[in-house]
Amino acid sequence: MSSFGFAKDKVKILVDPGHGGKDPGHLPLNNSGLQEKVLALSISKKVANYLEHNLGNVEVDFTREDDSYPTLDERVDMANSGKYDFMLSIHINGNPKTEVHGTETLIHNYDAKDSFKWAKLIENQFKKRAGRHSRGVKTSADLGHSLQILKFTKIPTVIVECGFITNNTEANYLGSVYGQEIIASAVFRGTREFIKNKYSSINFDPPTVEEVEEIAEDSTAVSADEAKFRLQIMASIDPVDLEIREFKNLNLPVERILIDTESSYKYRYFAGRFNSKKEAKKALKEVQEKGFKDAFVSAIK
Ligand SMILES: [Zn+2]
Repeated sequence: MSSFGFAKDKVKILVDPGHGGKDPGHLPLNNSGLQEKVLALSISKKVANYLEHNLGNVEVDFTREDDSYPTLDERVDMANSGKYDFMLSIHINGNPKTEVHGTETLIHNYDAKDSFKWAKLIENQFKKRAGRHSRGVKTSADLGHSLQILKFTKIPTVIVECGFITNNTEANYLGSVYGQEIIASAVFRGTREFIKNKYSSINFDPPTVEEVEEIAEDSTAVSADEAKFRLQIMASIDPVDLEIREFKNLNLPVERILIDTESSYKYRYFAGRFNSKKEAKKALKEVQEKGFKDAFVSAIK
């Protein structure tokens, strides 16, 4: 919190990966070995990485960075220590009915206006950009019980339930590098929009990054030719396997390029090779319809 007389120039976010240690959180019903605490930590680290590398004047701390178990009281105390502006808690949902799936963002109640705005922005990203089934924003009243973290923290706090570990399809997605990248980037985008709206006087521009060197990494049959354009379809922190269904479904060769950069997005993915911008734009439309909504035409240098 800023002191009287000083303009706020920085935002500090406490990232809280749910559960940990002796408490695995939700478990799948099919003995796949996935655990909520592991998925929550992995996604939390990606979100934090995006926040720190792609926004200036944002600092991130964790309630846990390994397989430890801070109690709920300890997590609430950290949130209320006066050091943080917001708390972002990351969880994975579970339900005895395996067909139940989708994302939810939880807030204490509608009086928590900032939390409500933030939660809506995250769910909006899940639905509009990440193509997830959004179950919307839920309050303690919707759940029928209050959650300690939401009830007792004095700073805006949301609990993001990234999907159901008890639904096979969603569990596979949450367990994959691809799924975690998409989920983390949606949480990051919603959070970025929220803090930019809330603190319009703070400059959140990332430190300028120099033009980067590209190192060819992996590709599915891309030939070196005279093509001038390609489509950038996504970027990620960890390498996504090129053989996944989401890429194959494009019916275009996909390249993964390692970028020599300090930015968190270490890998970029390009689809197709085109001689004209017109061809590239036509392909772009199809690629966007197939779920890569942020894809864009990129000139090959
Ligand atoms: Zn949980």
